[in-house]
Amino acid sequence: MVYRRVLDKLIILIISLALVFSAVSCGEASTSDVAQTTSGTSSSYHENTNQNPGKWYIIKDMSFAFKVPKDLKIKRAEKKGSYTGQNDRMKIAIKRWNRVSLNKLESLKALVKDYTDHKVKALRRGGRRMVKVLGYKKKIRYYVMAKNGDAYVFTITPNKEKHPKLKLKDIKKETSAIEKSFRSPKRVPKGADKVSISKSKFPKPDYLVLVNSSHKLPKGWSDKVDYVRAVNSRGNKIKVERKAYKEYLKLKEDLEKNDRIHIDIDYGLRTVKEQKELIKEYTDMYGASYVNRIAARPGYSEHHTGLAIDIYLIIKGKNIYLNEEMEKYPKTWEKIHSKLANYGFILRYPKNTSYPYEPWHIRYVGKKDAKNIMSVPGLTLENYLLRR
Ligand SMILES: [Zn+2]
Repeated sequence: MVYRRVLDKLIILIISLALVFSAVSCGEASTSDVAQTTSGTSSSYHENTNQNPGKWYIIKDMSFAFKVPKDLKIKRAEKKGSYTGQNDRMKIAIKRWNRVSLNKLESLKALVKDYTDHKVKALRRGGRRMVKVLGYKKKIRYYVMAKNGDAYVFTITPNKEKHPKLKLKDIKKETSAIEKSFRSPKRVPKGADKVSISKSKFPKPDYLVLVNSSHKLPKGWSDKVDYVRAVNSRGNKIKVERKAYKEYLKLKEDLEKNDRIHIDIDYGLRTVKEQKELIKEYTDMYGASYVNRIAARPGYSEHHTGLAIDIYLIIKGKNIYLNEEMEKYPKTWEKIHSKLANYGFILRYPKNTSYPYEPWHIRYVGKKDAKNIMSVPGLTLENYLLRR
């Protein structure tokens, strides 16, 4: 009898333990699955994600891919160059961001910080560089860098139309899964959906445009040109015409890899207003007579075109950008100048012309014309255009 009682007690103990365990695990399930507590209909969504790992999308022009829940379809948005997608729980918007062009994660972080005072975080996911902005306007934003240096903004928001009570933290599982999925298209399984963001509709500018002390910037020029923004090693924002910038990046890479020469852009596009300010600053620094010789009148600077670039040197990690400092490295400039034409650039003010020598001022004209000009020592753009 005694044994029987002990056995009974043991059985009761085992049953109650089992009950406690199941209760605990149930509790865990219902708290972790926020979807069930916030909206009844979305529980089926979670079942779906277990069976279907999601759908890959390759954004062609962005040169990266990402994965979203299978029921979320990405479609072209009304506005050109942007895409949207939604399912029961979330909305995604993708668009090209300011036609930014950057080649470093830190530059992207600095630029994003300029646009928002919210907490920004630089990330690397699957070989992609990105910056995350947390909680900005109750959204999660990712600025993802494409291979060509452009940045794209991904905005993820809870689908309030379907579920007004749904909060950002409720869709954290999905957002972090998308964040982790970012990678290059090469690492994406075949059969992924390809969506293509349309290229900018800017016409090709006249790369041989002449702007000098007697030729004013053509009217309406700035409206027709596709500029990219970047941040240099001194933390200054710069703007350059898209094609010229792309070629400049190749020149920079060539010099870094093969000659261990490091350069960056001091000035690219300079507006008429900025030219006025620069003249004032330079007059204080160098005096009026030097400025009159070297700086153009507002409206007459080649920098207004976005095709001219003033480069500076980075030597042993130090930025060398003052004219008198830069002039101390003639051999370095020689090497840089020898490679300009390969990327469509010319040295705009070479030695022994009527203009003062400016080793740092280069101008994009396109490869064919650059080779023609650079193969004749001392040939200026003015004289080249006269010969044609
Ligand atoms: Zn210049």
